[in-house]
Amino acid sequence: CGIVGYLGPRRAVPVLLDGLAKLEYRGYDSAGIAVVEDGVLQVHKRAGRLAALEENLQGRSFGACTGIGHTRWATHGRPSDGNAHPHTDCTGRFAVVHNGIIENYLGLREWLIEQGHTFRSETDTEVLPHLIEHFYRGDLVQAVRRAVERINGSYAMVVLAAAEPDRLVAVRQDSPLVVGLGEGENFLASDIPALLNYTRRTHILADGEMAVVTAGGVQVWDSRGEPVEKPVFQVKWAA
Ligand code: GLU
Repeated sequence: CGIVGYLGPRRAVPVLLDGLAKLEYRGYDSAGIAVVEDGVLQVHKRAGRLAALEENLQGRSFGACTGIGHTRWATHGRPSDGNAHPHTDCTGRFAVVHNGIIENYLGLREWLIEQGHTFRSETDTEVLPHLIEHFYRGDLVQAVRRAVERINGSYAMVVLAAAEPDRLVAVRQDSPLVVGLGEGENFLASDIPALLNYTRRTHILADGEMAVVTAGGVQVWDSRGEPVEKPVFQVKWAA
């Protein structure tokens, strides 16, 4: 339902929680975040209000400057801690937040189980981190591209890899996703209100586009893998 991502000099977790709070108006049943600390993915997620997640995070401090967050509106699998996003693969190296529905997830899930993957949730989304892990050969962008070739449905997704903590890979099809452009920092969000405390300069991703976002820059490709020069869309309306 709601997606946020952050890369830059700030501590990521408060920025993610603030962004998710700005997306609360859309409604949700669960919330979660993922960051990389000392090369290890840390995922915290809870069914219920954002306050339940914040309570779970209380007393912990995260140095991570990159992270992803999600508020879920369940379509496949009941609202529960385990079905909340981010979802990870079995090795715990890839975390994914996803809005939308992966229509062919059952077939993919069966095939991945045959390949030795173990599933821990009832969601359609969980095939995504497993697929990315299956295709990963040291380059997250290639792995996400290969995974996207296999899926049908609607999605906005953002992927964080433990081995590549300085970038986020984002892709969308029939579900909105926006890049927020800062000074030495960049953001991702499913909707503009999540960005407005930080920036009004954005790239609105189009269907099939993939963005690789670092603190210092954004690269975008279309569905054929051709680079795209995105115009900057300046948000004029008040928050
Ligand atoms: N289909 C996914 C799920 O049920 C994503 C739902 C959403 O867009 O929040 O977990």
